[in-house]
Formats: sequence, structure tokens, C-alpha cells
Amino acid sequence: MSISYSPGDALIIAADDTDSSTWMCTTFLATELVRALPDLDVIGLPRLVRLNPAVPWKTRGNGAICIRVGKGAGLPRLIGRIGERDVVSYARSAEEPDADEVLERCRPVLERWSQIEDSDPGLVVCPRPPRPDLYLRAVSEIIAKEDAVAALREVDARTYELNSGRGLIGAAAAASWVPRDRTYEVLTYRRQDLWGSPREVSSKDVSLLDERFPSTFNNYDALTGRPAIVPHTTCPILYGIRGDSPMDLYEAHRSIHSEPVDRWLLFISNQGTDDHILREWTDLVPNRSYEVEGEVLSPPRTVPGGHVIFALSSRAGPLECAAYEPSKGFRDLVRALVPGDTVKVVGELREQPRTLNLEKFQVISLAPAMVRSNPPCPRCGKNMKSAGRGQGYRCRRCGTAADRPRISAGQRALMPGWYEPPVCSRRHLSKPLKRMGLTSTIVV
Ligand code: ATP
Repeated sequence: MSISYSPGDALIIAADDTDSSTWMCTTFLATELVRALPDLDVIGLPRLVRLNPAVPWKTRGNGAICIRVGKGAGLPRLIGRIGERDVVSYARSAEEPDADEVLERCRPVLERWSQIEDSDPGLVVCPRPPRPDLYLRAVSEIIAKEDAVAALREVDARTYELNSGRGLIGAAAAASWVPRDRTYEVLTYRRQDLWGSPREVSSKDVSLLDERFPSTFNNYDALTGRPAIVPHTTCPILYGIRGDSPMDLYEAHRSIHSEPVDRWLLFISNQGTDDHILREWTDLVPNRSYEVEGEVLSPPRTVPGGHVIFALSSRAGPLECAAYEPSKGFRDLVRALVPGDTVKVVGELREQPRTLNLEKFQVISLAPAMVRSNPPCPRCGKNMKSAGRGQGYRCRRCGTAADRPRISAGQRALMPGWYEPPVCSRRHLSKPLKRMGLTSTIVV
């Protein structure tokens, strides 16, 4: 089917909620949409837009996709390869394809690659992006489908949905994203006959990415020796490298030895931007993510399951903060906090149990660490011994008694500065300290 054009700009195609936890990945659908429209040019970069990570019904990383298509004008740039075809992108479109025809051609692609029994797919084709506050709300709050549908109606969007069509929320939000901060990810995909089998990717090559391509991030977990760019699910992705420079990502991808790459595509993304964090707030509402400053109120305690919890004073009252077991050594940093420390915590507020799940924290100031020890004898100078629980101290040499221990300033294990969990337990949206121009503060 050939497409009709009219004067105008690129046409936006967005989709979400096509996969299940065991099958597929929405980004793969983006490659299939590009493949299904060979007569249309890709305008700009395909988008991988992560939305509120606290959405209870997400499958994995709450990611939606969006591509723009049209009749390319200007110089083409290589942004991927699908099958035998190089995928190029143009900065702008000279003409606008017909929205109804494009929707008709995208529908079977969505149907073919959706896990219908376990998902609520939504597909959007629109000539203009929905208003940008839709993205801003969808990345930080829970929004109703009606709100997304109303915003789509304003821009004359064509939509297609299956089951509850909840995917329209993510699709509309991805289409409305106006990047304030942005990163890129080059995603590579496996041959279909290998889906579900162990992935072959050189760990050595992955471990060298940070050094060879400093603009990339979240590559390798040096402590566990795990390549963080390789997923552990049965999805079609082989690996994905994230970074601040599209050129570096292209080279980084070429530096990895692996099983055959069936296809690859470069995405622009809001990953690693902290876009989901609410910094100006009056109340703390569960299922949103916040930055909160306060004073540590209680010594951190380890609860069954290995999670570490402490209470923080906040403008909204006492707040329990948690470092969960998968954050491994990060918990030791949290355990090193003491009451009186002033910290800034960043993370998602869970509903049940009501805890702020730490994505990183900053030590602003440290309370002096007070160490209790046996006092010296006031008469002979020898160190006294405990006289029993609650009974003070007694000198073994001269028999002198004393009530109080010696209190002295001890050394703290933390310094003022930022601390973050290891690469493997970071959120897609969390801004790594590396992107903040910082490194994790050295622990003394
Ligand atoms: P993957 O990352 O593997 O693509 P996923 O984690 O994105 O999967 P989905 O199956 O897409 O999971 O489920 C997320 C659902 O939540 C979608 O239907 C999406 O439209 C919806 N959604 C996304 N953001 C919000 C939000 N802020 N409020 C309400 N619903 C949302």
C-alpha cells in the first residue's frame, strides 16, 4: 500500500503495553514498526520513554516507545540496521504522511507482536504531540486513561487499542515528551531462534566500556562482575548500552563481541535523568518519587529479608527510608548513618509498607559519633571495669566506683557527599552520579 502525503511535518507513532514479563519488549515493536514502513523515513530518533516506575501494573521498566515518520529532508544519519536494511534518520520531514493510512498499516504489527492474553496494548498516530504536561504527570504520578484520551483528542490523534487499552496512557505520554534532559541507548536484538536461551556477550568487553567510552553509564557491576547491559529475561534484547553521546554509543556497540546481532536501533531516552523525582512538594503521596531533606531520627536497623530501614524527619513528618536487599553493599553505607545526620534522600514512596525506597542519598552533615567506653579510674588512672548491668564501673586495682562511662568522639564511616546503589540495582530513570559530574563518595 502506498502512502498519501500532505504538506506538514512528521507523523508521530507511539505504542505501549504490548509485552508480558516472559515475552517480548516494547522497544522490539519499534524496530518492527520501522521494518513495516520501509517507504517512510524515520524523522529524528526513535524514543524510549520511561514513565512512573511506581505504577503498580507495569510489567518491567514502564517503558513506552514513539517514532516519527515522514519524507526525510536534509542529510541522513545511520541510526540502526534491521535485517538487510540500514535504518537512517532525517532531522525533519518535508511532507506529512496520511494518519489513517499509517494507523491501518501499524495495526497488524501491534497485533502480531502483542502478548494479547497478558497486556492492554495501545497505539497512537498523531500529527502533533499531545500537550507536554501529560508526560510530566505520567513520569511522576498515576494518571487516568481518560486524561490521556482527552489530550490525544486535542491533537486529532488516531488510536487503536486492545483489551482495556491502558497502553494508550504510556503511548500518549511518550508522544508528548519534550526532553529537558536526555540520554541515548543503542539496543541490540537477538535472532529469534535464540530467544530464551543464555546470551553470549563478552563480559570483558562490557567491563571495558566505562574506560573506553566515558560518556556511557550503567555498564558493568564491578563488585559482582555482572554486565548490567545484558538483560536476564527471555525478551529479544541482547544488550543495551546507555550514554550521553550517540556517536560513542555506535562505537561502543561495535566494540562488543557477542552472538550474532539480528538488528540494532539507536533510541533517545529519558533514562538516567531523574525526571520522575518530585523536588517541590507539599505532601508525600505514595506511588510517586521524591527528594526529601531531613535529619536521621533512628539508627538504621536490618529487618528480615536483609532490608535496612531508618526513620528521617521530613517537612511532612517522620518518614521511614529503606535500602532493599538487592542494593547489596549500598546497605552498609545506609547502616553507617546515625541519628542527627542531615541527609537528602531520593526515591520512590511505596504504599505498603510505607517506605521511601532509596535510589541515592546525600550526606549533608554528619553528627559527631559518640563512643562509650569504660572510664579511667579517677584515683589511680587504670581503666575501670563494668560492675554489672546498670551498676556502673569499678576499679579492679583500688576498688574506686564510678557511675558514668567515658564518652568520646569516634570516627565516622561516611563523609559528606553522594552515595548510590551498585549499577545492577539502579532504576532506569535514576540519574547516576556519573551523569551529575560526581563519583560515589569514598568511604573511609
Ligand atoms: P516494558 O518495560 O517491558 O516495555 P512495561 O514495564 O512498560 O513493560 P507495560 O506492560 O507497558 O509495562 O505496562 C505499563 C502500563 O502502565 C501501560 O499500560 C501504561 O500505559 C501504563 N502507565 C504508564 N505510566 C502510567 C501512569 N503514570 N499512570 C497510569 N498508567 C500508566
